[in-house]
Amino acid sequence: MILFRTTLSRTGRLRLSLLSLPAIALAGYCGWITWLGREFAPPSRCQGTAVNGYLTHGRRLPYSGENFRAYSLLGYLSGRTFMHGAVRDAVLSSYARVATRRPELRFVYGEGSWPWGGLLWPHRTHANGTSVDFFVPLRTRDGDVAEMPVSVFNKLGYSVGFDNAGRAGDLQIDFEAMALHLVELDHAAREYGLKVRRVIFDSHLQPHLFATREGAKLSGRLSFLGKAWVRHDQHYHVDFGGACG
Ligand SMILES: [Zn+2]
Repeated sequence: MILFRTTLSRTGRLRLSLLSLPAIALAGYCGWITWLGREFAPPSRCQGTAVNGYLTHGRRLPYSGENFRAYSLLGYLSGRTFMHGAVRDAVLSSYARVATRRPELRFVYGEGSWPWGGLLWPHRTHANGTSVDFFVPLRTRDGDVAEMPVSVFNKLGYSVGFDNAGRAGDLQIDFEAMALHLVELDHAAREYGLKVRRVIFDSHLQPHLFATREGAKLSGRLSFLGKAWVRHDQHYHVDFGGACG
């Protein structure tokens, strides 16, 4: 009988534990999300370089806005889209600036940093909240505005490949829209005391960008790198300067 009572008690405790698990997981998850997204934290601080650095009190863009969205809910919720607060404000301003000029365009941003910075595998930079990836704006061959198809099967968009003319199946890079975003990103960065330090974009695709009306303003104004350890054809990587003291 004692044995039975003991067994029953253990079973009860086990049941209680199992019943508690979802509640504990939910509370932890909400705490994680709340902590990740809090806006009342002290100002962001970054240390070191984009390769070997850290971020404190990182901020992130909204998941989506009037003319933009994050690349992946999974990536967003797991905390891979943080950045220095000033960088976040500049990116947000760039989207607002583009919206006033070309409200029909749509943009998708990619990964930034962890809230605390450090290595963000598989990136070699993105360590101190001053690196942000932007997926290329797209149109269909019919000219309709399109967005990067993102799924777990294409590494959240990062394995989508474009040919040297900027085509992938029915999709075509909208170089004019990309140039417009970079022009306004440059303006917005200056507005927040930053600068666009470097843009990484595939060297075969850069001539198409500079050939556009807006792109002509970029050549000589921003520093472009064409070759990196991975091909940057589906996204352009931007390093911001001026945020880290
Ligand atoms: Zn990057």
